[in-house]
Amino acid sequence: MKIFKELNSRGHEQVAFFNDPYSGLKGIAAIHNTTLGPALGGCRMWNYKNEEEAIIDVLRLSKGMTYKASIAGLNLGGGKAVIIGDPKKDKTEKLFRSFGRFVEGLGGRYITAEDVGTNIHDMENVKIETNYVTGIAKSLGGSGDPSPVTAFGVYMGIKASVKEKLNKNSLNGLRISVQGLGHVGSHLVELLHKDGSEILVTDIDQTKINHIVEKYGCQYINPKDIINQDVDIYAPCALGATINKDSIPQLRCKIIAGGANNVLQEANRDSQLLTKKDILYAPDYVINAGGLINVANELEGYDKEKAFNQAEKIYDTLMGVFKRAKKESITTTEAASLQAEDRIKKIATLKSFYLPYKKTFKIRND
Ligand code: NAD
Repeated sequence: MKIFKELNSRGHEQVAFFNDPYSGLKGIAAIHNTTLGPALGGCRMWNYKNEEEAIIDVLRLSKGMTYKASIAGLNLGGGKAVIIGDPKKDKTEKLFRSFGRFVEGLGGRYITAEDVGTNIHDMENVKIETNYVTGIAKSLGGSGDPSPVTAFGVYMGIKASVKEKLNKNSLNGLRISVQGLGHVGSHLVELLHKDGSEILVTDIDQTKINHIVEKYGCQYINPKDIINQDVDIYAPCALGATINKDSIPQLRCKIIAGGANNVLQEANRDSQLLTKKDILYAPDYVINAGGLINVANELEGYDKEKAFNQAEKIYDTLMGVFKRAKKESITTTEAASLQAEDRIKKIATLKSFYLPYKKTFKIRND
């Protein structure tokens, strides 16, 4: 694999390899862009088939974080880390403390958090070695579970989508299908219920279904049938890639707006197919940025109210994306990327750059 060719093609600044035979740590941190601030992104632990797969994953995910932070209006860059290993078998305190020491060694250019395969307890072990970690427990000065803020941001994004597509200010009486009743989905259902929406729900976990159906009087739909319901809004809050060339012909919704990451299997192809079908798509990393907003708030001392206020702005951000897509006759996916890049370019053309050690921006004279 030609590493520098990969870095150039994706625009990465730095990739660090962590190797500690004493703890078994084999990790990679990728820093994509620090124009707006230090690179923040979770640490994924996964049993990768080979090293190349791990490198590609960390490069892809870290770039995504640059766009997510930028469009959310945060002064953060994009980064991500991966640990090669089985999260069910290979986790030890020693491993995460070792990871924490390497993160500390990057001097604040990269700030870590939990992700797939890691959790709040792993981050507590990382925290023993470095302060460059977020997503930790409230008792340790962290923000705790980010999903209420994520769900609120998704709710605001649904409202923006409804305003754009249906020219309505309220969700009252609208039919909304929610796929996945986990952390994000269950909080979202609560908000939609308060607004008087007609909610259709699905999950693969019967206990979660029973609880939500009973509490909010939602209609249960079999998981395999959720995609083709006749609804105003489909809110994916479970898996990625539920929208693809096979599922798009089955869709009978007017809007897709939910909390899941990587909703489109192939971003450009699928967003074009949705545009052709006249379905409005709220880009996933714009609408689900509440989680990132929440952990980013830990860096300045967590303030719950501020986090919710920032997540509320997802409404305006999405309206900006929709407006640009319409004006330039492009998909909402393309419009979101351009909005994110514009903000980075605006700072970059000021010729300023971030000094992580001094935690300040410096203007170049050249
Ligand atoms: P979670 O694990 O708590 O919930 C996911 C739910 O989806 C579970 O209840 C699971 O049983 C269900 N599910 C899995 N496969 C399914 C299927 N085939 N059909 C129906 N239901 C299925 O996860 P979460 O924290 O609620 O996150 C949900 C999505 O939102 C993920 O894609 C995640 O990456 C994304 N996201 C979460 C946050 C956050 O703050 N938690 C932030 C940003 C993005």
